[in-house]
Amino acid sequence: MRKDLEGELQTLELMIGLYCRGRHGGRGLCRACGELLAYSRERLQRCPRDPKPACRACPVHCYSPERRAQIRAVMRYAGPRMLLRRPLLALKHYFR
Ligand SMILES: [Zn+2]
Repeated sequence: MRKDLEGELQTLELMIGLYCRGRHGGRGLCRACGELLAYSRERLQRCPRDPKPACRACPVHCYSPERRAQIRAVMRYAGPRMLLRRPLLALKHYFR
């Protein structure tokens, strides 16, 4: 897979994971979130732009309206939490 897509996919996985744990409370992804991730991965791999622009700025609307609403909810939930989480990860690394 293209390098720029790989990084984006990792972020996506992380965010959907955070969202699912927080909202749906299970271990690992629930079925709905698993499907959303699979859908996003597929869309990402088919992205015709190279390098891929930020989805927000992209003129190609490749998500269906329903999926778009779902991914928006994930971003809203996980976005601020990612910022809180990263410094912690950095700290752990430092003390190792
Ligand atoms: Zn879920």
